Amino acid sequence: MATIRLKLLVDREKNRVVFAESDKEFVDVLFSFLTLPMGTIIRLLNKQSSVGWMDKLYESVENLDAKYLETEACKMMLLQPRSEAEILCEDLRVNADDLEPRRLYRCPAFGCFIGDSRAFSSISGARCRCGRAMDKFLCWDKQKKDAKDYGFLKGAATFVISDDLHVSPAAVTNPISLLEKFGVKDVDTLEERVVQVGRKEVLCLLNSLLLSKTPFTDVFLRKRTPVQDVLSSIGNFLHVKHVSCLLAAGQALSSLKSLLVLKTPFRDIFSQKKR
Ligand SMILES: [Zn+2]
Repeated sequence: MATIRLKLLVDREKNRVVFAESDKEFVDVLFSFLTLPMGTIIRLLNKQSSVGWMDKLYESVENLDAKYLETEACKMMLLQPRSEAEILCEDLRVNADDLEPRRLYRCPAFGCFIGDSRAFSSISGARCRCGRAMDKFLCWDKQKKDAKDYGFLKGAATFVISDDLHVSPAAVTNPISLLEKFGVKDVDTLEERVVQVGRKEVLCLLNSLLLSKTPFTDVFLRKRTPVQDVLSSIGNFLHVKHVSCLLAAGQALSSLKSLLVLKTPFRDIFSQKKR
């Protein structure tokens, strides 16, 4: 299984990572997190993301009878949303997203996929304009790419990534100021360590980036994901119909924020206590 080599500067005294040093390979993986749809993040983290109530929202869609949905494909769109950047990410050394890219679906009716008005769907079962389900699978061959033609960064630059996820080119980073920022007074307490980052670590990092202020320390030193730290015994279950009410009330942004950060989103929004 592919891994990426990552160099860590560790403060032994405080048992924390001060910063990591890596090349394009690892930073591309970090940046790729920004391209993931929320449904993908929840799915990859096996509904254990603890990102507010998003896990419950995802579960609500999973459990919703298809008869309440516009089409059966709607469920797949919500549970397995596709990323616009999936082609760019498919050759990352370690790709967080595990969906097969380069696939489309078309209508089985011949007249619907020829000519200028042909239609395709990224999701199986979406309804064609003729009323049929677009479920005929298409997959195009992977084009040969140079190593430089994947990911987001170019060249062979080295990057420094602090434990609060500030990413900067090593050439313009002052390590002394980073040591000061993280309160390192004695350089004798510093130690260089090399870790191998595979898919398991990438998913732990994805989770940590959402919830922790010290993701590298949590994943590589304390071997802990934020999931293990988050309370899981709170009530106030979410149901889709309630979310619809919130959106209809013109409170979409408040709702989204609440789902991400609050433990009692409806009470907090409607009682106006935590806007
Ligand atoms: Zn059709």
